[in-house]
Amino acid sequence: MATISPPVPSSDELIEAPAHLGRLRDSHGRAITDLRVSVTDRCNYKCVYCRTGNEGAQYTELAIEDYLRMVRVFVGLGIEKIRLTGGEPLLRHGLVDMVQELSKLRTAYTPDGFPTSDGHPLDIALTTNGHLLESLAQPLKDAGLNRVTVSMDAVDPETFTAITRVPRSFHRVLAGVRKAQEIGLAPVKVNCVLLRGFNDHEIERFAQFSREENVIVRFIEFMPLEEGRTWKPETVVPMDELVARLNAFRPLVELPPHVASETARRFTFSDGLGEIGIIAPVSRPFCGHCSRVRLTSDGKIRTCLFSQSDHDLYGEMLRGGTDSDLAAYVRKIVMRKEARHHIGEPDFEKPSRNMVHIGG
Ligand code: SAM
Repeated sequence: MATISPPVPSSDELIEAPAHLGRLRDSHGRAITDLRVSVTDRCNYKCVYCRTGNEGAQYTELAIEDYLRMVRVFVGLGIEKIRLTGGEPLLRHGLVDMVQELSKLRTAYTPDGFPTSDGHPLDIALTTNGHLLESLAQPLKDAGLNRVTVSMDAVDPETFTAITRVPRSFHRVLAGVRKAQEIGLAPVKVNCVLLRGFNDHEIERFAQFSREENVIVRFIEFMPLEEGRTWKPETVVPMDELVARLNAFRPLVELPPHVASETARRFTFSDGLGEIGIIAPVSRPFCGHCSRVRLTSDGKIRTCLFSQSDHDLYGEMLRGGTDSDLAAYVRKIVMRKEARHHIGEPDFEKPSRNMVHIGG
């Protein structure tokens, strides 16, 4: 990667404030190091488990420069990893330039939490449906993108079309996955949301796909975040059942987590070929290790996927907040981060936004 100058906060105050307050933490003591930024809530797919098919974008998009300013504030407080998402982020004009600017930023804290002016480049990742990835992978990589996660809920082209409601979509996404792999946007992860009776017959084929394409396949439990409000506990394929199915395909061997806050349990097969991740927010919640906050396409902070409200950081900007005002606002909101979600409990309330309008 090219040599790049240290981060350029727009004021000195931004550097000084966190130095005495410490890196961003919530009231439960969790360090917040991971920011997901939705750059649009438009999407070119209408995945049946995510969208009704009748509704389009619902929230505004901000200028790329506005996202960058907010991201700089977060980075000054200790964010180390940025994931760009949506909607479908590859629809967003200016995304490559945004990645280029993000690649100039440096972490503001050492891994053990001390402020530093000698930080590292951020970990910059993208979550995409892959439809436009084949042509955009190289420009994004050249701009400084490190990694890509492609959502792919079937490896059979017909099932894929039935899910995305876009004809001939599978081959485009496969071409995007292969391109990302070829140019080293690695490790390429393929995320599959499993729905009982819909794509769970493909579990073994996904395992084979991981082995043949040399990508990490991650199965994700279906969460109540869809527009259509169709979620039922019976539709979720829980981790234990999935592990049993994969073990019957070939014996699984568990791999150690990379970091404590890792959301996925990692496995390979007994011959070491292929890697499977299982993300089980429903049957095995990992909220205690959550290091994430989200920024929506209209500039609102969401402290949990299941929050009942969001917090208007962009509004603070519009009211003329300085960078240190914004940093203070972020700190205040992050302190309110929920301890955990309540999926499956009697008091569970659906969140105020659906996944496509939050940014997954
Ligand atoms: N368009 C991009 C994509 O397809 O990856 C980014 C946005 S999409 C909302 C992000 C991820 O959320 C996708 O992997 C999608 O499968 C996942 N997702 C959507 N609804 C979900 C739900 N109810 N439960 C679990 N994951 C969901």
